[in-house]
Amino acid sequence: MQYLSSGTLLKRTKVCGNPGCRCAHDPAARHGPYYEWSYLKGGRLHHRNLTPKQAELMRQAIANYRRTKKLLRAWEVQTQLIELNAPE
Ligand SMILES: [Zn+2]
Repeated sequence: MQYLSSGTLLKRTKVCGNPGCRCAHDPAARHGPYYEWSYLKGGRLHHRNLTPKQAELMRQAIANYRRTKKLLRAWEVQTQLIELNAPE
């Protein structure tokens, strides 16, 4: 089964605010990564936090979605070229 999804995936790291924590001084020691998926539903933008495993699945699903949209656009353009330039 191939997954398909619109939206975007964000990967973030965080500083916890504790001055004694390594993350306060070392960017490489920041907490995370945390993943957030943003998507449109009913005309509104929603956000959802994902586990690393869910994020990997969504990364693939979003790549599939973009590839599919690109194919659909190419198909549409081809149809218009063929049909509208065909001799009567
Ligand atoms: Zn910290």
